[in-house]
Amino acid sequence: MTVEVRVGKIGIGGDNPVRIQSMTNTPTQDEKVTAKQIMELADAGSELVRFTIMDGHGAEKVVKIKEILEKEKYDVPLIGDFHFNGHLLLERFPDMAQILDKYRINPGNVGHGEKHDPNFRIMIEKAIDNKKPVRIGVNFGSIDKQVYMKLMDENKEKSSEELAIDAMVVSAMQSIKKAIEYGLGKDKIIVSTKASSVPSMIRAYEELAKRTDQPLHLGVTEAGMGDKGIIASTAGLSTLLQQGIGDTIRVSLTPEPGSSRTKEVEVAQQILQQNGLRQFMPIVISCPGCGRTTSILFQEIAKEITEYLKENAPKWKKAGYKGFEDMKVAVMGCIVNGPGESKEANIGLSLPGVGEDPVSPVYIDGKPVEKLKGDKRIDDFKKLIDDYVKSHYG
Ligand code: SF4
Repeated sequence: MTVEVRVGKIGIGGDNPVRIQSMTNTPTQDEKVTAKQIMELADAGSELVRFTIMDGHGAEKVVKIKEILEKEKYDVPLIGDFHFNGHLLLERFPDMAQILDKYRINPGNVGHGEKHDPNFRIMIEKAIDNKKPVRIGVNFGSIDKQVYMKLMDENKEKSSEELAIDAMVVSAMQSIKKAIEYGLGKDKIIVSTKASSVPSMIRAYEELAKRTDQPLHLGVTEAGMGDKGIIASTAGLSTLLQQGIGDTIRVSLTPEPGSSRTKEVEVAQQILQQNGLRQFMPIVISCPGCGRTTSILFQEIAKEITEYLKENAPKWKKAGYKGFEDMKVAVMGCIVNGPGESKEANIGLSLPGVGEDPVSPVYIDGKPVEKLKGDKRIDDFKKLIDDYVKSHYG
């Protein structure tokens, strides 16, 4: 088991559930839009939110961002993402250093040569002074050059990709060791070794998990857009999560222009839920449909029920219903698998396929209870779902 690290009010590692985090893409110097996006991400289910702190303009706005969040009663832990000048910013802006709940340090860009260790040390000492945890966030795209060159000299037979994976792990392990030597507690260190290549990130994390009991922050960095980003993240994270590796995850999607940043939180929740690690939303079990489904009615019902659950889950939660997140709702296309899946679900609807009796049997807790028909079928089924939540999760 990994060590527990507290980040603000949230525990990561140890017995805690795998946490979800995300990162803003707004300019940090614009405190209003950044605070707004932090709140949107928190509302979507991000348990921690990170934002970049590039320069003094961004650093001095951290106080204002926190004020807005406090006024709006949001206490989501905040993480400062530092590259190149974190040691300077943490010294120059003590209020920012105190407000942030965690500092992200990239050992590949804290300074090169003789500057590397002193700069890294300053950041660690700031974390110690302010009693904050850090994430040692190694990244395939910005590997510590000294570590890489040394490994290259020693392992001439290895490919550049193998060397990069080794270098990420060595850089992470050396940084953990140095941070502890400088006085930071083991309960203050989270680690990551992200890569955009799924096989590379899997291998790096597998190796890291063998060598350290610090909590691991998982991610496929620069996963990309749309389906590609979702699939890459799901493949990488699921492979590791199924081995028991990973204490917190971030899904790094490139948003479609104009689309919401919260999509990455939704995908992260789905990944944890489908891996059987956490429950966030009732799930809809629907078959793919085939030549036995009579029309698009089946697709429409599956879509409408999925949206109905998504819309109503926050309302049920607010009303105090507990455990409905585990509910399984089946919407099936015909008699072949329809009754079977419907019986296994908490509540299921089996639509009539080609040539079947045009009624839709509903099963609740494995028993046939009703046969729906006609245009009111969807509304009647929604009402049965609502009644089920109220009678079973009150
Ligand atoms: S349940 Fe029926 S409609 Fe759905 S995929 Fe299977 S055979 Fe086709």
